[in-house]
Amino acid sequence: MLETVAGGAAIAGMLSARWNWWRPQAQGLPTLMYHKIGEPPPGSQLAKLWVSAADFSRQMGYLKRHGYTAMLFAELRDAECGRRDMPAHPVLITFDDGYANNAEVAFPIMREFGMKGNIFLVYETVDRHNSWHDPAGEPWVRMLTWASVDEMQRSGIVEFGSHTMRHPDLTRTPLDLVRWELFESKKRLEDKLGREMIGFAYPYGAGAFMPEVRRLAREAGYRYDFSIKQGISPWPWDPAAGPLKRILIRGDDYLLDFHLNLTRGKARF
Ligand SMILES: [Zn+2]
Repeated sequence: MLETVAGGAAIAGMLSARWNWWRPQAQGLPTLMYHKIGEPPPGSQLAKLWVSAADFSRQMGYLKRHGYTAMLFAELRDAECGRRDMPAHPVLITFDDGYANNAEVAFPIMREFGMKGNIFLVYETVDRHNSWHDPAGEPWVRMLTWASVDEMQRSGIVEFGSHTMRHPDLTRTPLDLVRWELFESKKRLEDKLGREMIGFAYPYGAGAFMPEVRRLAREAGYRYDFSIKQGISPWPWDPAAGPLKRILIRGDDYLLDFHLNLTRGKARF
């Protein structure tokens, strides 16, 4: 018995060193941040940003079992404006960059579990590849095609937002070019998709907390701007308090990480 208790204490100690399960639950709007779904190509230096289809499927299953409602940006705006009810357990599923695997791997899994997602596109890379990466460190992979963007939009399961024209670091870009990246991508995506671009994600999260960059993002007319700052933003959200926080989903996360992230805003130290 004593041995069992001591063993339990040792396990709890180990768990505490890795996971912050003791952290109080966070209220608000959990926003998941994904990038690539599938298996990383050989030589990838960003392998942790690839979540396997099996893990993604388990995570969508978790959301369904626990009664989460995944929302599109437009649905969130409607709820904010009182045009629809906010679900009891809302979650935003977001994907940065717009990789082809979002359509090929993630989309059918979201459909299977009744989940909806929002994808931030880099306008000039659609139909092409991730040209902002140095292929020596991160191999080029295919991005979404306009045809698959159109198909996903028509399904009502996916909404699109902007992730700029070319994925620059906005903190190292002259302000007139920052303005172009923000305004031009919004306009071109809206022309192409026939829908308002409500959401924006800062490439690399850069500029989200730089007042002159963020001012331009708000001025461009994006209702929701997303940082990569880890955590759960309170809901209702006050834009003046800063951009929305997100939860990075990593390829080496266990389902326990996913659970803690969703309920605490953080899983690891
Ligand atoms: Zn990005």
